Amino acid sequence: MTQRRPMIAGNWKMNCLRADGIALATALAAKAAEKGALGCDVLVCPPATLLSDVVAATKGSAVMVGGQDCHVATSGAHTGDVAAPMLADIGAGYVLVGHSERRADHDESSTTIRLKAIAAHDAGLAAVVCVGETEQERDLGATLAVVNGQVAVSVPGGATAKNTIIAYEPVWAIGTGRTASVAEVAEVHAAIRAELVERFEDGDEFRILYGGSVKPSNAAELLAVEDVDGALVGGASLKVDDFWKIIETCA
Ligand code: PGA
Repeated sequence: MTQRRPMIAGNWKMNCLRADGIALATALAAKAAEKGALGCDVLVCPPATLLSDVVAATKGSAVMVGGQDCHVATSGAHTGDVAAPMLADIGAGYVLVGHSERRADHDESSTTIRLKAIAAHDAGLAAVVCVGETEQERDLGATLAVVNGQVAVSVPGGATAKNTIIAYEPVWAIGTGRTASVAEVAEVHAAIRAELVERFEDGDEFRILYGGSVKPSNAAELLAVEDVDGALVGGASLKVDDFWKIIETCA
């Protein structure tokens, strides 16, 4: 069986003023340095305003930095947006694309998300492509059709296990305290894996993260599920101790 190095990614969303963000990043970098070899890759995705500060605060440490979104274009008349080359230019290595909050708040389609992933790849960034069903879709029994459809359209043909990570986040589990059951997570991750293996030569090597109310108390159980290769953590990534406990689950 393919050995995939787990990744624990923190999505700070629209949180943290400068002092809080720098303190959080500095504390994580210090913990990583103290620990030495980590059992997983560690990524933090702060808001765009903090990217430079967080890159500086984590420099030389195992903590990697990513953006939360990028535009499909490399530059131009797109007020308020950030282009993938700009993220690469300030030292980010990753970018989240297609988070359900972006899909909902900004009406992003899977087609747009594929173009964003391509823009990320072209800029030398790895894309964390987020997918997940709503509660209504789950109740209708459409979970696998929805998630597989999102993966099919959002993940570009040029994706590889090196430049693309999938994050499965059931929308009803994000920020709600509700987590998908182990059986629910296992079923969806297996379906995503099957789709990746069918489509990509290295489909077995892609990391598939679970996200949605991951916290220290449920991380071990979720990370032990087959085909769960890490976690995308929202709320709990804003607290150093909680985020660190989740990272240590991979030790
Ligand atoms: P949560 O968010 O951990 O606060 O549920 C996860 C996410 O939206 O990435």
